[in-house]
Amino acid sequence: MNQKGLLIIVSGPSGAGKGTLCKSLLKRDSSLIVSVSATTRLPRDGEVDGVSYHFYEKEDFLNRIEANGFLEYAKVYDNYYGTPKDFVIDHISRGENVLLEIDIQGAIQVKQKYPEGVFVFVLPPSMKTLRDRIVGRGSETPESLEKRMSCAMNEIESIRHYDYFVVNDQVEWATDQLQAILLAEKCRVRSDISEVVLKFKEEKQNVKSVD
Ligand code: 5GP
Repeated sequence: MNQKGLLIIVSGPSGAGKGTLCKSLLKRDSSLIVSVSATTRLPRDGEVDGVSYHFYEKEDFLNRIEANGFLEYAKVYDNYYGTPKDFVIDHISRGENVLLEIDIQGAIQVKQKYPEGVFVFVLPPSMKTLRDRIVGRGSETPESLEKRMSCAMNEIESIRHYDYFVVNDQVEWATDQLQAILLAEKCRVRSDISEVVLKFKEEKQNVKSVD
């Protein structure tokens, strides 16, 4: 039985905690394949090339856009980010489930190209929590904080493009919800279900010949 794997897209406004939630999911489900994004931003302390991101020069990134190397790409706060296409397609066609943690502009592009993906929107419990989380990162001026909050509000309006939402209040509970979504999606009847029917047909033949 060679059913395609799932493409799970987790996104939401910056400060919703999608990174923490994805890490928590991966701890529980090590069979998930994480897509390592490409970016033109500089590595932060502790980030490893090829593990945290593929760190590319801007020119290299732009050439890869030209060569149609990304499933999606977006400019997020002055840097480019993109999902390498071949990696994702290869794993999904092998029946493996692939996880993307990307911003909302990117998720909407993936939805256009691959609507059978599972689109999950991560919400903060409240705007106050979102604000506190952004302030907690310590890198915002009052103006940039204001800009991020307005941007987050616009992004929340994009929730209608998604299949599911998870409110990230307590990480363990939010992870339970994400796992439940995956379980339901694995049991969904999809267009490639004929593979399953074929398996049963073959088995029926074998059962006959043994008898
Ligand atoms: P950071 O620079 O903090 O690692 O990530 C900044 C933002 O870029 C986050 O919202 C993150 O989800 C998003 N991001 C990371 N990788 C990708 C990607 O491949 N595509 C898109 N569209 N966004 C990404």
